Amino acid sequence: AKADVTRAICFYELRMDEASRTRQTLARDLRRALELDQLELHYQVQTSVSTGEIRGFEVLLRWTHPERGHVPPSEFIPIAEENGLIMAIGEWVLRTACRQAASWDKPYKIAVNLSPVQFAHPDLASLVKNILTETGFDARRLELEITESTIIADKVRTLQTLRRIRELGVTIALDDFGVGYSSLDTLRSFPFDKIKLDRSFMSELEENPQAKAIVRAVLTLGKSLNIPVLAEGVETDDQLTILQTELCDEAQGFFLGRPKPVEQIFGLEGADSDA
Ligand code: C2E
Ligand code: CA
Ligand code: CA
Ligand code: CA
Repeated sequence: AKADVTRAICFYELRMDEASRTRQTLARDLRRALELDQLELHYQVQTSVSTGEIRGFEVLLRWTHPERGHVPPSEFIPIAEENGLIMAIGEWVLRTACRQAASWDKPYKIAVNLSPVQFAHPDLASLVKNILTETGFDARRLELEITESTIIADKVRTLQTLRRIRELGVTIALDDFGVGYSSLDTLRSFPFDKIKLDRSFMSELEENPQAKAIVRAVLTLGKSLNIPVLAEGVETDDQLTILQTELCDEAQGFFLGRPKPVEQIFGLEGADSDA
């Protein structure tokens, strides 16, 4: 039995080794990808539920690895957060998105995701300000998306940073609301301009009455707090119809449009074949 345990431990260590080697390789390749300008931004449309109008676009990072092909952000963002590379990547995302959107014909908003690691940095507000100046992008067209894990790290400092960013005219959205560390205290204590309801509620909207009741309650909460609610992960016509009935403000999801390279987001409205 002792030998079995030893063998099991060795096997475990071997697998751990393998996993950490993969992470190290990915980290090195990611650094290179950033230097060689191999990262790309995709944009996913956000629309008004009542009128169908475009409200803006969420910016989503894409990495095509030379050998592995597409690596999902859920895989490489945690690695970048662990080794600090997320600071440089996050800055690149913000600068590139502002620069691209500054050249559009229409003044749509863009929503950029921020990692909790970026938020922990004391100079975040200055960085945002500098990038806005440098790119000439209108602060009112920029929204930053943060999750509740950002807030729990250091409440006092987060609140300070949020205030400084909002003073620039930039808006703040609370991402993935309803899952993870969700608590009403977050909404009570922090100044949000939008609540993004996590997409897990959409996938259960039609068959699970509990999910529907929660969606309804969040929409009511948003109305009483005067904060618009965006439903994430809308994949069907029926889901959108329910959101219309429930007076949800905005929606985003494959049914409305998949994330696309910047060259493809305009001109194809209504003729969207891949959604
Ligand atoms: P998120 O911020 O919740 O972004 C929305 C994710 O849902 C995106 O996945 C998007 O492709 C996906 N999605 C959109 N509509 C639908 C739908 O109808 N159904 C389903 N099943 N999925 C949908 P993606 O692009 O793989 O990104 C995953 C996560 O990676 C993001 O979740 C965000 O947390 C993170 N991420 C992406 N780009 C960045 C970035 O530039 N910086 C940081 N810090 N994180 C990023
Ligand atoms: Ca997001
Ligand atoms: Ca989300
Ligand atoms: Ca997420």
